[in-house]
Amino acid sequence: MIFRTRFAPSPSGPLHLGHAYSALLAHDLAVAENGQFLLRIEDIDRARSRSSWEDQIYRDLRWIGLKWPEPVMRQSERLDVYTTALDGLWARGLLYPCTCNRKDIASAASAPQEGRPLHGPDGIIYPGTCREKFRPSAADEPRPKDIPLRLNMAAACRVLSGSDDPCAQIGSFLETSAGPNGETGSIAFTMKELTNTIGDVVLSRRDMGTSYHLSVVLDDAAQQITHVVRGQDLFEATRIHVVLQRLLGLPTPTYRHHRLIRDEAGKRLAKRDDARALSKYRAEGATAEDIRALVGL
Ligand code: GLU
Ligand code: ZN
Repeated sequence: MIFRTRFAPSPSGPLHLGHAYSALLAHDLAVAENGQFLLRIEDIDRARSRSSWEDQIYRDLRWIGLKWPEPVMRQSERLDVYTTALDGLWARGLLYPCTCNRKDIASAASAPQEGRPLHGPDGIIYPGTCREKFRPSAADEPRPKDIPLRLNMAAACRVLSGSDDPCAQIGSFLETSAGPNGETGSIAFTMKELTNTIGDVVLSRRDMGTSYHLSVVLDDAAQQITHVVRGQDLFEATRIHVVLQRLLGLPTPTYRHHRLIRDEAGKRLAKRDDARALSKYRAEGATAEDIRALVGL
């Protein structure tokens, strides 16, 4: 099996130092292992994606010295793959439609008996309002297309563990640390953890017909990625991805969650931090080596 890593940016803004760090780490790891470094454009969010940003991603990554095989995978060309996976999950009764807006979710989650709303990787943990209203037999009918669909996390866990035991292990993944010897540890999780700290995540968004979580899992498998290198901010989301891999019969790669690059105030960089856009450093005469040094490589 070829050792493969990837960098998967969204073309919705300029790449900044944090992206460069992630891409360079993934690239260097592949080179060190005689493997392959792939690029993927995560452009399912049609409202925010721009081809001009995509072009700039290619320019920026070439400038910092990266190369990748062509053609590059683009999520916008894979909607049929996402649709087929959603149809399958729907037919297994693991999805339900949800029409709650942010306000509905916030108020249901802060009802007096609920205590303080808990946050998961996608914001407030969904309190399950629409799950309770859904008739399981509706899964025999065609999948509704223009309504967000949520994963029934408890039902998914029951399928995966074959039991109702909230403490049964549902999945695990290997995490390789940044240590000099690349130590690897296994991270396992239970149904109780998944329902309490993640909940029923949206797998099909209204205007996308898919979601980040579903697409990333199907694409990593299609690209045969063996090592996913990503920011620490996605650590919790990785559990969702392992659940989906298990439900869809896909392999689980090894993960490396790296530290986040922060600004002087200690705040993590975001797309809008144009001050640290790679193109800005380039315009000011910096070199690829300068960028490596700036992110500590
Ligand atoms: N498009 C995602 C991002 O830029 C991909 C990250 C990942 O799944 O590793 O955050
Ligand atoms: Zn709902």
